[in-house]
Amino acid sequence: MLSLRKIQAAAGLSLTEVPEPDAPGSGEVLVRVAATGICGTDLSVDRWTASYAGFMAQALPVTLGHETAGRIVAVGQGVDPARVGRDIVIDPAVACGRCERCLADDPVGCLDRQAVGLIRDGAFAPYVLAPDTYCYDLPANVPVELGALAEPLSVGAHALAVGGFRPGMRVVVLGPGPIGQGVAALARHLGAAQVAVLGKQDGPRLDVLRGMGFTDCFDMAEPDANRALTLAKGQGFDLAVEAAGVPEVVDQALALLRPQGVLVVAGMPERPASVDILRLVKYRLEIRGASRIPPSAWETVLRALADAPDAFAPLVTHRFPLAQADQAFRLCHGRTPSKVLLLP
Ligand SMILES: [Zn+2]
Ligand SMILES: [Zn+2]
Repeated sequence: MLSLRKIQAAAGLSLTEVPEPDAPGSGEVLVRVAATGICGTDLSVDRWTASYAGFMAQALPVTLGHETAGRIVAVGQGVDPARVGRDIVIDPAVACGRCERCLADDPVGCLDRQAVGLIRDGAFAPYVLAPDTYCYDLPANVPVELGALAEPLSVGAHALAVGGFRPGMRVVVLGPGPIGQGVAALARHLGAAQVAVLGKQDGPRLDVLRGMGFTDCFDMAEPDANRALTLAKGQGFDLAVEAAGVPEVVDQALALLRPQGVLVVAGMPERPASVDILRLVKYRLEIRGASRIPPSAWETVLRALADAPDAFAPLVTHRFPLAQADQAFRLCHGRTPSKVLLLP
């Protein structure tokens, strides 16, 4: 079967034929992939940045693709045969089950994760194997393609939860990429009083949000953006979510908060950030980090998708057959699309 793989410890990916997976092992299911999203992580793996080179080198060659939805077509020993035919999404953060954290019943904190699409073979392929306990049922009214949004949306749901999000809050999102867009859509769906989104030279991505009815979208590369943002900010936002992965954005986000506001950093900057500590102290601000997605975030997302699939559907802007993965990745590296799906 055709698979998009990382083969060598260097920049680049390979679209190559590999054998179909073996029959599912104990506790596993075989999933026929319907759609898999291209993630910023996949772009970093393609470029082979230091943060991925470090832990992935030992896993090569490996098939990428971790934002996926599909249908269970076979089950291994110990899995209910009635699962065959179910549409599911895969939580790719498979824990090792053996480390100190796993043995302490903290699989989310696993020290040796076997992530689908990074360490074990992923879903840029027609078939993928996954442990059944990491496969969540997709609600019947959610198109399976939208299921591929569940993983990036769960990152956003977790960021909001870490920030103590409650209905009625005023939220600002920095970075209008797929994660930031998901945070905005979820915050609005969950009852935010206001959702503002900032970008920089992010016209197409902000236009997608405007098309979804978000009015407070600001492209900081444009001359009037600062003045408009100051108006929208008012006395300051309750919660800021950094989803740009750009160190300079952290300090910019702090300046947008009300006293005692909270900044959640969900992006993954590759350089240190410099922060106005005086502002942090004076206004009693908090900075919290969000990574590692607990099952509760998946529950939030699957409920939101079931409640309002149409509210999230515009976040998918492009679809390519897997055979055109090259073209799809080139598009993503250009930072203009929202979520791009590969269909095997
Ligand atoms: Zn991802
Ligand atoms: Zn573990």
